[in-house]
Amino acid sequence: MSEPGGSVRRITPAVIEAKKRREREDAAKRLQEVVPDLSSLCLRIHDRADGLGALPLFYIRHVVIATAPALFELPCADNKCEEGGHDVTRPVMTGLRSGEPTMEGRSRCPGHRGDKPCSRELKYLVNADYGGA
Ligand SMILES: [Zn+2]
Repeated sequence: MSEPGGSVRRITPAVIEAKKRREREDAAKRLQEVVPDLSSLCLRIHDRADGLGALPLFYIRHVVIATAPALFELPCADNKCEEGGHDVTRPVMTGLRSGEPTMEGRSRCPGHRGDKPCSRELKYLVNADYGGA
C-alpha cells in the first residue's frame, strides 16, 4: 500500500470534497437552532457498490447535537470518486422538524470515477430522540 511520489503532496478528489463539505457545514445553521428539542441523533450508514471488488461499508455516526450543523452530507465511500457524496439534508431535516423518531432512505452517488459513473449507493437509518423532560 505504499505510494510512490516522495514528498509530493497528494490532493485526492476525496480531500477536495471533504474541504468543500466542511466549508458548507461551517456556513450552515446549527442543528440546535432548527430543532431545539432534539436530544440525540444517530445515523447508521450502509454504503455499497455494484462493482466487483468494491467493499460494502457500514458505519454509525453519532451526531454531537451541541455543535452539529443542520446539514447532512455524507462522503462517498470511494475515495477516487469525484463530485460524489450524498446530501440527505432535506429528508433528514424534514423528519427531524416533524419529530420523527426514525427515518430511512437511500441515496445513489451522483459522482464519477473518470468517465464512469460512480456505482455506490447508500442506505441510511436515522434514530432521533427529542426533549429532555
Ligand atoms: Zn461516489
